[in-house]
Amino acid sequence: MNSPLYYQPGKDGLRCRLCPHACFLKEGETGICGVRGNSSGRMSLPCYARLSGFALDPIEKKPLYHFFPGRNILSAGFYGCNLRCPFCQNYGISREFRRSADSPETPPAGLVTQASRGDTPGIAYTYSEPLVHFEYLLECAGIARSQGLKNILVSNGFINETPARELLPLLDAANIDLKSFSPDFYREELGGDLKPVLRFLELASASVHLEVTTLIIPGKNDSLSEITEISSFLAGLNPDIPLHLSCYRPMYRYTLRPATWEDIRPLLDAARQKLRYVYPGNVRQESNTVCPSCAELLIRRQGYNVQIKGLRDGRCARCGREIAGVWG
Ligand code: SF4
Repeated sequence: MNSPLYYQPGKDGLRCRLCPHACFLKEGETGICGVRGNSSGRMSLPCYARLSGFALDPIEKKPLYHFFPGRNILSAGFYGCNLRCPFCQNYGISREFRRSADSPETPPAGLVTQASRGDTPGIAYTYSEPLVHFEYLLECAGIARSQGLKNILVSNGFINETPARELLPLLDAANIDLKSFSPDFYREELGGDLKPVLRFLELASASVHLEVTTLIIPGKNDSLSEITEISSFLAGLNPDIPLHLSCYRPMYRYTLRPATWEDIRPLLDAARQKLRYVYPGNVRQESNTVCPSCAELLIRRQGYNVQIKGLRDGRCARCGREIAGVWG
C-alpha cells in the first residue's frame, strides 16, 4: 500500500498528525521518529516494509504472560522511534540507525506468510517503535486477521487518539510501556508526554488484551509513591491488567547502576495492593501466576521455561475462579 496517512500538506511543508509531536516537515526534512519525511511536498515513508529483523520469540519475552503462554510468536522489528529514552535497550535500531535501505523489503503479505508457515498464533510488532510505521501495521494486521492470526503490539503507546482508534480494532493484544508516572520525566528524559500514553492505555484496555511494562530505574522512577500511582491508574482501568516491573540494566546513554531484586521487591508488594497480577522482569527469580482467590500456583515461569500447572480452561483448577487472559 505505502500510502502515507495522517498528515496535512501546507504551503511551506507538511504537518504530521500521527503522534503528539505534530512535526512540521519542510522539504527534505525527517520527523523526530526518523522514518517519516517530506519529499517533494509529499509525506514519504523511506523505511516502509524495511524490517530490522524478525524471529520466533517466546511470547513471554514481549512480555505477555496471560496470552497464549508457552507459545512462540513471530516478532518483527522496525527502525526509528518517536521517544528518545536515554536508556533505550534497542537504540541501534530505534535511534542510531543509518537508514534501513539495506534491509530487504518484507511486504505485509510476506510477513503474514512467514507467520502462517510457523508454529505461532500470530505476529508481534516490536523491538523498536512499531506505531511510527502505522501504514504497514494497518495493512499487515488486516491481512493477518483475515488469515486467523493474532496481532500483538509492543509499543510506547505514544500516538494520537484518532489513528489509535483506527488500529486498535485490528489488534488482539498489546504490551505498552508506562515508563513513569511523572510528566516531567516523560518530557525531560524521554522527549515525550505522559498524557497521550495514559489515553492510549485507556483505549487499549477497552479493546485488546493489555499488559503493561515499567522499567525500574534506580533513583528515577523507583519510589513507592510512583509505583502506587502507576498501579492505581491501571487498577482504575482494570485490576486484572498484568504489570511487569522490569529491572533496568545500563544501556545507551545511562550509566546508572542496574536495578536489583532488592530494589523491586517492595515495589512488587506495593503494586500488588492494587493489581492482581504483578511480575518481576530481568531478574533470576521465578515469575509465577497464582490464583488471586486461593493462591494456587497456576503457571510457573523460570526464565522462558513455562509450566502450566493449575490452570484449566482459563480457570483455577482448585477453586474455579476465572483467570483474566487469553489462554489459547
Ligand atoms: S510520527 Fe514521526 S514525523 Fe509524525 S509527528 Fe510523530 S515523530 Fe513527527
